[in-house]
Amino acid sequence: MEMAYTVTVFIFGLVFGSFFNVVGLRVPIKESIVRPPSHCTNCQRQLTALDLVPVLSYVWLGGKCRSCGQKISWIYPLMELITGVLFAFAYWKLGFTVEFFVAILLISLLVIIVVSDFAYMLIPDKVLLFFLPLLFIGRVLSPLTPWWDSALGAIVGFGILYSIAVLSKGGMGGGDIKLFFLLGLVLGTLNTLLTLFIAAVIGMVVGIIVLKARQQGRKTPIPFGPSIAIAAIVVYFYGDALMNWYLGLW
Ligand SMILES: [Zn+2]
Repeated sequence: MEMAYTVTVFIFGLVFGSFFNVVGLRVPIKESIVRPPSHCTNCQRQLTALDLVPVLSYVWLGGKCRSCGQKISWIYPLMELITGVLFAFAYWKLGFTVEFFVAILLISLLVIIVVSDFAYMLIPDKVLLFFLPLLFIGRVLSPLTPWWDSALGAIVGFGILYSIAVLSKGGMGGGDIKLFFLLGLVLGTLNTLLTLFIAAVIGMVVGIIVLKARQQGRKTPIPFGPSIAIAAIVVYFYGDALMNWYLGLW
């Protein structure tokens, strides 16, 4: 039975992931998320129900638009798959608890942000503002111990990122700063700091690899959102374990 629930949550995740792609692509350019229906950005052909099956449609269409042959980015099926896997993982770890819904909200927020950051190099305020009250309610119903760690985490997360932005004179986007307010709320103080640390390490490694591959000037911007998202998910599920392991080394 447990298996059946996990598979169901996974399929829900795939479908939601498909919707998150639409949200992440449309909200930053102020398009409605319901109208017009999904269409090919090149030839405008409206997608049929068959084209909208998550992941599988990408595979059987060979990653191309059926009518004009325009290539579809592999980012979108990947985000669908990641959403499905993370939803199922959250269910497997937490069961149907209030905390499961906090996890689902966090995953949803991060997936949308990654799509927007990849596509436009920005994290839309509208998305952050949508999730802020939901995550707040989630943390009221399923508080951290101590409960005020959420408030402190939000202030510390926002404060540190804001300081980095001021000191680096714009090296940090406004969306990243606000995102860390929300992450602080969900993760608490120490785990927010750990998220920032891991995100910085991932960002540096990715930056070095991308620069080597591109052989371009240092100024090529690389979105920081995906690094933050990966770090936040790892810390959400394994932050305490990582912290204990790290402290045990000393
Ligand atoms: Zn097309």
